[in-house]
Amino acid sequence: KINSPLEAYKYLPQTNCGECGEATCMAFASKLIDRSGKTSDCPPLVKEKKFAKKLAELDRLLAPEIRQVTIGAGEKAVNIGGDDVLYRHKLTFFNKTKMFFDVADNMEEAALVARVKQIAGYKKFYVGRNLLLDGVAIRAVSNDPVKFAAAVKKVAEVGIPMIFCSFNPAVLKAGLEVAKDKNPLLYAANKDNWKEIGELALEYKVPVVVSAFNDLDALKTLAKTFAEAGIKDIVLDPGTYPTGKGLKDTFTNFLKIRRAGIMGDTEIAYPIMALPFTAWMAGIADPVSASYWETVMASVFTIRYGDIMILHSMEPYATMPEVHLAETIYTDPRSPVAVDSKMYKVGNPTADSPVLFTTNFALTYYTVESDLSSNGIDCWLLAVNTDGIGVEAAVAGGQLTADKVKDAFDKAGFDLKTAVNHNTVITPGLAARLQGDLEDKLGASVKVGPMDSGRLPGWMEKNWPP
Ligand code: SF4
Repeated sequence: KINSPLEAYKYLPQTNCGECGEATCMAFASKLIDRSGKTSDCPPLVKEKKFAKKLAELDRLLAPEIRQVTIGAGEKAVNIGGDDVLYRHKLTFFNKTKMFFDVADNMEEAALVARVKQIAGYKKFYVGRNLLLDGVAIRAVSNDPVKFAAAVKKVAEVGIPMIFCSFNPAVLKAGLEVAKDKNPLLYAANKDNWKEIGELALEYKVPVVVSAFNDLDALKTLAKTFAEAGIKDIVLDPGTYPTGKGLKDTFTNFLKIRRAGIMGDTEIAYPIMALPFTAWMAGIADPVSASYWETVMASVFTIRYGDIMILHSMEPYATMPEVHLAETIYTDPRSPVAVDSKMYKVGNPTADSPVLFTTNFALTYYTVESDLSSNGIDCWLLAVNTDGIGVEAAVAGGQLTADKVKDAFDKAGFDLKTAVNHNTVITPGLAARLQGDLEDKLGASVKVGPMDSGRLPGWMEKNWPP
């Protein structure tokens, strides 16, 4: 395994030809190490025969500790696994936990199509991006190959990644026949059917889950057998208990598998599947209570170390915590989520509208923007570049200063003396100590706003117009 650009550089052509979009091979090597680039982005390395050995060796050395597995095909295909560390702050976690929601092959066609469209169309706007659901898991409740194939055909038409759920090889084969180019994940091979399911994975070249309930030795043996047979894309299902001591066992199993994989046990270095919606939950009479426990379980295994889940509850109170938590855990700590540093219009501001500023930390910006827009406050909102750091920390750390605010106004081409009639700026309450400096640098009146943007509407009633 290699960890430095210098080590990666040794395997590159070292001609600085620029075809990869970087000025030098060393710059490209840095991208390989932080995984923002891949070896296939260097045309000479891929095309010239004399580099074939180096390319193969470099790919091997750069491969993550936990195998990355792709499910689905085309633009909507998703990757799972691919991690190198046990703790996010040691590097970052790559591929966010993927959430597949279930349908059953015995559902009425209209209901099935409606649910699949609901899954595929799910969208939750959060700090500048849309959070989505990832795919559909088709449960072969009928155990009938014809019915299962018909359900697969309907889901495949929507073009979303799929998991085929059955322990019956004939059922899975029927599904594969109608979705040959869709690269679905097969769930699952166990101690009874592993031979037939393994043959299907090889024949159709699709990823496959190996499953052994609360028996890590058996799970490892299955994974090893599959790997020796030439199956590379394996996902592990160690079983998911819903409650009590069993839940503790499940949690411990997830930790043991991931720790062994990261520490170099390649026989078990694969992504892990969690199944938060268990038979126990299906038996709970109150659907809200069942959804609640499913969400709790999904949260536990998003944190430690579920790479993919099959879920059931689609109510907003179930999906919103799940997608938000995954987004938060998998945010790259090396680069805070930031918005462009510029002047934004909130609503339809005029020359009489207030001018505010905040930092370009996405969570701060969108919170302030939402507090203003949802209260109908038309205004000008400047996002100052603080390297994606929030107001209080940026003031303390020197990323938010009067000079930086002035610079941001200048770069935005926003002259307070001509763009508005009041020559006034509202500073966040947490940046109150900048007031004097700001007045000097901007040559404007500076009002100190509230500590919390949620109080801006009340503050505006008392303090605006100035
Ligand atoms: Fe170097 Fe390859 Fe990039 Fe050319 S394309 S500069 S050889 S890394």
